[in-house]
Amino acid sequence: SRLVQLFLNLVDNAVKYTPDNGKIRLSLYQQNHNAVVEIKDTGIGISSQDLPHLFDRFYRVDKSRSRQLGGSGLGLSICQWIVLAHNGRIKIESELGKGTCVAVTF
Ligand code: ADP
Repeated sequence: SRLVQLFLNLVDNAVKYTPDNGKIRLSLYQQNHNAVVEIKDTGIGISSQDLPHLFDRFYRVDKSRSRQLGGSGLGLSICQWIVLAHNGRIKIESELGKGTCVAVTF
């Protein structure tokens, strides 16, 4: 049930931060002996200054852009907690204005 919560959270973020007509791609593949799930969007992206803080509790990028979308800034810290509890890794790559890719490896 925690894994469902994890992936719902990540897909929810991709939907929230991707404008209409954007694309969200989910993929699952094997890399070495690991399973990798990727959630990739063509949304508004995240700046390099914000990237290191995304897993901090209550951290939200540019309050003005996200306030109308709701959210508490807790989502990604909970995601990281769930991934670590399953001995996995979570990595976020993003470019402002281009999109975001979250990769979860177990
Ligand atoms: P929130 O509840 O604010 O969505 P999260 O912890 O899930 O909190 O995310 C922290 C911040 O990271 C968000 O406020 C948002 O600005 C940014 N963010 C998360 N996912 C994405 C994404 N896919 N694209 C762009 N920004 C994102």
